[in-house]
Amino acid sequence: MSYRAELVGLLGQPVDENPTGAMQEAAFEEAHLDWRYVTMEVAPAKLGAAMKGVKALGFRGLNLTIPHKVAVLKHLDELTPAAKLIGAVNTVAIRDGHTLGENTDGKGFLRGVVEDARVEPAGKRVLLLGAGGAARAIAAELALAGVSSIHVVNRDPERGETMVRDLREGTGVSASLSTWPVKVSDDIDIVVNATSIGLYPDIDRMPDIDLGDARPQALVCDAVFNPSETRLLRAARKRGMRTLDGLSMLVYQGAIGFELWTGKPAPERVMKNALRRALAA
Ligand code: NDP
Repeated sequence: MSYRAELVGLLGQPVDENPTGAMQEAAFEEAHLDWRYVTMEVAPAKLGAAMKGVKALGFRGLNLTIPHKVAVLKHLDELTPAAKLIGAVNTVAIRDGHTLGENTDGKGFLRGVVEDARVEPAGKRVLLLGAGGAARAIAAELALAGVSSIHVVNRDPERGETMVRDLREGTGVSASLSTWPVKVSDDIDIVVNATSIGLYPDIDRMPDIDLGDARPQALVCDAVFNPSETRLLRAARKRGMRTLDGLSMLVYQGAIGFELWTGKPAPERVMKNALRRALAA
C-alpha cells in the first residue's frame, strides 16, 4: 500500500480553459493508476524555475502549451527526432531527472487519419493550410509516414517558406508553397486545416478554399477542436467528402502522452468521452 501519487501536468499561460486534465484524469482512473494531472499557469519568465521545480518534485511528465512549446527546448536534456524536426515540444517524459522532449500533435493527427478515417498516408498528396506549430507537427509526421507531396498554404510567406524548407531538408518530401485563396485540385487526397480559422468564438469563419474540383474520396481534416464541427467540415460533408475533426487529434496526442508516461495502453474511448464532456461544460 502506498499513498504516494505519481504526478504529471501542464505548463502554459493561459490554462484555465484547457481540458487536457479532465481527459488524462479519466484515463488514470480507468487504468487504476494512482496518478494526478495538475494544470499549472506559468508565466514565460518563470518557465526555467518551473522546469527545475517539477524535476525536484519528481514529476513523471509534462505537457507544454502556449507560450512554452518552443521556449522549453533549452530546458530539456534530449529531444526525439520528430521534436527536433518540428522545433517544438508539447510533451516531456521525465525519468530519473532526465527530460526527453517529444511532440505528439502530429503523431496524434496521424493516428486519427489511420484509425478513425482509415486512410493510409503513404503515397498520398496533401494540401496543408497553415504554417504554425500545429501545421509543422502535422507536416513532419505526414512526411515521415511517406506521403508523396505536401502543398502548404500560408498567409505569411516567410513563415511558410521556412516551414517548407525545413520539411524538404529534414525529410526529403516534395513540398511547395502558395498563399490564399486556395482551389483544391482533383489530385489532392488529404486536405488539412491547421490554421486557427474557425476556432471559437469565430465559429462562422472558414478558410478561403474552393472545394468545387476536389475528389469526393478526398479526406478533409480540421485541427480546430472547438467547435469540433467546423464550417469547413460541414462544407466538405455537404459535398460527400469524408472528414476528420480536431477532437480526434486532441485525444490521440493525449493518448500518446499517456502511453509515454505510464507505459500502458491508453483508454482512448474513455479519454474521448471525458474530453467531449469537458468541452460541452
Ligand atoms: P499558430 O499561432 O502557431 O499558427 C496559426 C496559423 O493559422 C498560422 O499558419 C497563421 O498564418 C494561420 N492564421 C491564423 N489566422 C489567420 C487568418 N485570419 N487568415 C489566414 N491564416 C491565419 O497556432 P497553432 O499552430 O498552435 O494552432 C493552429 C490551430 O490548431 C488552432 O486552432 C489550435 O487550436 C489547433 N490545434 C489543435 C490541436 C489538436 O490536438 N486538435 C493541437 C494543436 C493546435 P500566419 O503564419 O500567416 O499568421
